[in-house]
Amino acid sequence: MSDVASTFRDQYGAEPDGLWAAPGRVNLIGEHTDYNDGFVLPFALPERVVAAASRADAGWRVWSDLEEEPASFDDPGEPGAVSGWAAYVAGVVWALRDAGYEVPPANLALTSDVPLGAGVSSSAALESAVLTALIDLGGLDIPVADRPAIAQRAENVYVGAPTGIMDQSASIRCQAGQALFLDCRSLEVEQIPFDVAAEGLAVLVVNSNAPHRHVDGEYGARRKSCEEAARLLGVPALRDVAADGLDETLERLDDHVMRRRVRHVVTENQRVLDTVELLRSGRIREIGPLMTSSHASMRDDFEITVPEVDVAVEAALMAGAYGARMTGGGFGGCVLALIDADRADATAAAVADAYAEHGFTAPTPFVAVPSQGATRL
Ligand code: ADP
Ligand code: MG
Repeated sequence: MSDVASTFRDQYGAEPDGLWAAPGRVNLIGEHTDYNDGFVLPFALPERVVAAASRADAGWRVWSDLEEEPASFDDPGEPGAVSGWAAYVAGVVWALRDAGYEVPPANLALTSDVPLGAGVSSSAALESAVLTALIDLGGLDIPVADRPAIAQRAENVYVGAPTGIMDQSASIRCQAGQALFLDCRSLEVEQIPFDVAAEGLAVLVVNSNAPHRHVDGEYGARRKSCEEAARLLGVPALRDVAADGLDETLERLDDHVMRRRVRHVVTENQRVLDTVELLRSGRIREIGPLMTSSHASMRDDFEITVPEVDVAVEAALMAGAYGARMTGGGFGGCVLALIDADRADATAAAVADAYAEHGFTAPTPFVAVPSQGATRL
């Protein structure tokens, strides 16, 4: 990460009013449950976007250490008016205004060590850092609980990327040493102790570096299939399908593929609840089998994994992980493995060896420490 305060000085010839940070996230468990009004359990990463920012006279200027060219806009206009990476920034300004707030013109300089497009939500980190900075610069009175939906609208409506509320909630509301148990219907949250290091454990994240394959189309198709299934079952969302008696419920659906999609969502919601129960009583190791069955469900029922992530999960389990699963929307992205803290290198090496055997591009491993959500530094 570059020294963003000195970059700010170089770019704008003045000291920034402040520094704000917002992290990327991984989801411990609960995949494709968010848009089904269900449960998710993400935690924030130490990797984050840091924004140095000041009020300006007019318009918005943004510089990012990940981009060749700075961006600027006098007005966010209507969704689509600003494109490219700056759309995430313009989208936040637009969404704040659309929610009725007066947004201060600002100069921003951004630095980030959140990998882009790796499934750890660099987009939410960017939106959340900019949102938090603009809220503070403008002295806007917006409860933390209301902020994720504003950042989500920036991404959904302005950028035009359909995502659930999880990513922005995680980036804004997570706390260090905790996972965020989020009910995506009520938006109620509960901080769940997840201090892996204190238990001699670690979460190894392996970026599969798999090429993205039709992610948007497949995401849309899964979403549509879930909505259609809820309609056929006469419930507002798949969240309302009980895990008890699931087999009988599934018989009411003719389509075999749809049955499997529903089974994933219903069993995944239950696995989140079971994981939360175990973590509340400090039984971290025991969540391993839930992680592994979550992966099997994504692979066999929801069909959103690719060979690279399946191989990484297998290799991590063979190397002694308590559990392993793909995290994120699927079709690539990252794998999480719950391991003994002293097994990080050995597990990463086992995955790398398996990738070499399969002729896959080498994976990128890192240890994920549950960290603080968006904050002023
Ligand atoms: P993910 O959120 O999984 O990392 P996305 O495709 O949703 O992947 O978001 C990645 C995009 O977000 C990038 O292509 C870029 O446009 C934008 N982005 C994220 N972080 C930054 C940053 N620090 N500077 C500029 N653009 C960024
Ligand atoms: Mg994203």
